[in-house]
Amino acid sequence: MSEPLLSVRDLVKDFPVKGGLFGREIDQVHAIDHVSFDIGAGQTLGLVGESGCGKSSTGRCILRLIEPTAGEIWFAGRNVTAMLGDELLALRRDMQIIFQDPYASLNPRMTVGSIIGEALIIHRLARDRREFTDRIVELLETVGLGPDHMLRYPHEFSGGQRQRIGIARALAVSPKLIVCDEPVSALDVSIQAQVINLLEDLQDRLGLTYLFIAHDLAVVQHISTRVAVMYLGRIVETASSAELYARPLHPYTEALLSAVPNPSPRAKRHRLHLEGDVPNPIRPPSGCHFHTRCPIRQLPLCSTEKPVLKETSDGHWVACHLRG
Ligand code: SF4
Repeated sequence: MSEPLLSVRDLVKDFPVKGGLFGREIDQVHAIDHVSFDIGAGQTLGLVGESGCGKSSTGRCILRLIEPTAGEIWFAGRNVTAMLGDELLALRRDMQIIFQDPYASLNPRMTVGSIIGEALIIHRLARDRREFTDRIVELLETVGLGPDHMLRYPHEFSGGQRQRIGIARALAVSPKLIVCDEPVSALDVSIQAQVINLLEDLQDRLGLTYLFIAHDLAVVQHISTRVAVMYLGRIVETASSAELYARPLHPYTEALLSAVPNPSPRAKRHRLHLEGDVPNPIRPPSGCHFHTRCPIRQLPLCSTEKPVLKETSDGHWVACHLRG
C-alpha cells in the first residue's frame, strides 16, 4: 500500500462504569485494546465483529466523536489525536460518518433540504441561496433521489431512502473518508444490496475511502479491499478480502464465515456454532480473549498467554497461538 490516508496506532478506549450512591467510577469497560490498522486512499477496510466488540467505538474515536484513552490516529499526515478547535472543525470536512439507524439519525422536524444543507452552512460552502439550493439538488441526485424530495420530512421516506439522505448529508462537505457504521444493518436484505452498490459507485466516482463497519462478513465481502476481524476489543485477523474469505486462519473468523451463505449450492460450508455468548468486556478472559469459546483452544497456553498479531503470508495477519 502506498502512503495510507488513515493510520490507527495502538488505539485504546476504556469507558468508565459508574455505580454506588455517589455515581463514582467503579470499573472500566475495555472497548478497544491496542488496535492498529491502515487504510489507503480510495480503499475500503471492512471492520467486522459481534455487537460490543469495539468496532463502532473505533469509528467514533477516529472522528473524535469520543476521545481515545491512548494511541494515535493519523489522517493525511496530520495527527488527529492532537487536534483542537478550528483544526478539529476542518477535520469534520475531511471525515464524515453514516450511521446505522436511518430512522434515529435524521431530525424528524427538519426538511431533507435543511438536513443536507446544515453542513454547507456550518462550513460556509455556499455563497448564496441559489448555490445552496443547487448543491442540495445535486447531492440528492447523486444518491438517486430527486429535487422534489428537498421539502419533505424524514418520516415520508422508506428506510433505504432515509439512508440515501444520510449519505447525501455525509457527502455535502466533499469528505475524503467516510466511516460507514453498520449502514445497512437496519435495512431489508433486498435494500441492503442497493445501498452497498450506491456506496461502491460513489467510491469509484468520488475517490472516497471507507471504514466499513459490520457484524456480518457477508455484507463487507464485496466492498472491502481488506477486512479486519475484531473480538472483544482486539483485531484477531486481517487480510485482503479475497485472502480472508478463501483462507481464514483464526477460529473466530472461521465461525463468522461459516454463517455466510455460500452462493454455490454444491460448495456447502460446515456451520460452526460457538459456545456461549461474548464475555463481559469489563472482565475479558485472560490470555486469548477467545479461549472461552474456541473449539481448538489448548490450555493452559491459550488462557495465560496473549497471542500477538503475526504475519503468516503476504499481508495476512493472525493472532492465534496455533495458527500464527
Ligand atoms: Fe483458540 Fe488459542 Fe488460537 Fe485463541 S490462541 S484462537 S484460544 S487456539
